[in-house]
Amino acid sequence: MVAAFAESLRTHDFSGLQLEEMIEIIKSEIRDEYLQDHSYPWVIGYSGGKDSTLVVHLVYEVLMDLPRSQRRREVHIVSNDTLVESPLVIGHIKESLERISDAAVVLRLPVVTSITTPNLDHTFWVNLIGRGYPSPNRTFRWCTDRMKIQPTSAYIKSKIEESKNVILLLGVRRLESATRAASVKRYDNGERLNRHNDLVGCEVFRPIVELTTDDVWEYLAEHDAPWGGDHQKLIKLYRDASGGECPIVTQKSDAPSCGSSSSRFGCWTCTVVDKDRSLEGFVDAGFAEFGPLLDFRDYLVAIRSDPNKRSARRRNGTITITDTGTFIPGPFTLETRHEILDRLIDLQRNQPVDLISAEEIDRIRQIWSDEITASPKSERAVTNIVKKVR
Ligand code: SF4
Repeated sequence: MVAAFAESLRTHDFSGLQLEEMIEIIKSEIRDEYLQDHSYPWVIGYSGGKDSTLVVHLVYEVLMDLPRSQRRREVHIVSNDTLVESPLVIGHIKESLERISDAAVVLRLPVVTSITTPNLDHTFWVNLIGRGYPSPNRTFRWCTDRMKIQPTSAYIKSKIEESKNVILLLGVRRLESATRAASVKRYDNGERLNRHNDLVGCEVFRPIVELTTDDVWEYLAEHDAPWGGDHQKLIKLYRDASGGECPIVTQKSDAPSCGSSSSRFGCWTCTVVDKDRSLEGFVDAGFAEFGPLLDFRDYLVAIRSDPNKRSARRRNGTITITDTGTFIPGPFTLETRHEILDRLIDLQRNQPVDLISAEEIDRIRQIWSDEITASPKSERAVTNIVKKVR
């Protein structure tokens, strides 16, 4: 079977095999790689979506089948929280990670779970409201690197520092989309492990690369989660969102898949997509409390193209006019930033989850003060807004 898998890696052909046969081949590859004679830890990028769930599921089963003496390699299951994730999705990620971690303790599996977050200076609100960065769009997408790639990369780098090398397991699949297929192709060297494009010391292992979307759903629907329960909640989440997922992103060349035009689980604030179909799906499925989030996102889209909301000068004081004579406005004006924070805090009142943290508000306040130390008017406005939340 291993020979068949190696052949399939070369030819990208799983045709003629039943799903259970393919899964057995994949599990034997996972087992074989896990038992290699080195101690490099594994990191699994877990987005909470179907593909990374299947990878975690299969790795978990392989670990459970191994004698305890052979479970020597640490497996880190790492999710990233941008701090503006769709509330239902981040709720699912936290809940499933807790189950995965609790079961690992009982089963004595060397599994470590972790959630990375952007550092305070790189969060969505600190940049948008604090510094006035315009709501991200396809040409100025400042968010993915700061909020997703850097936190996950920092985690992987910390493991590389400790162990010299890391094996990164990703749930990418060739057949997921044309963009994904292009991204997957970059890793096609005919070997099981491929060097990561950006992270030195990181090798990428894509165990389910040849599975189809139907294969993934079929397997998840028919098998209980090895950490307890089943995958029905995940299936319902997709059904409600009627969309795809925003996967773990560890390099800029993968970034188009995050916030692309297809519907995905992503940040509820995402202004890169034309419409947030997943959040719309949740609202249609009965989660009416998220309707105001959709309105707020639309507001962020609208103010981006309102010249009255933007400064003429960029943050470095320059004025930008392109070769074709197009004027590129600068950041949101301070008044606009006050307005956004004011509205966000009003929105927060009726939400079951935190939309912005006290630390972010403090940092925003500090940035505003640094920017206009001589403006008591602005300082007063900040104080009034901040009073509303405390
Ligand atoms: S989902 Fe949208 S807002 Fe969030 S990081 Fe991706 S592109 Fe940026």
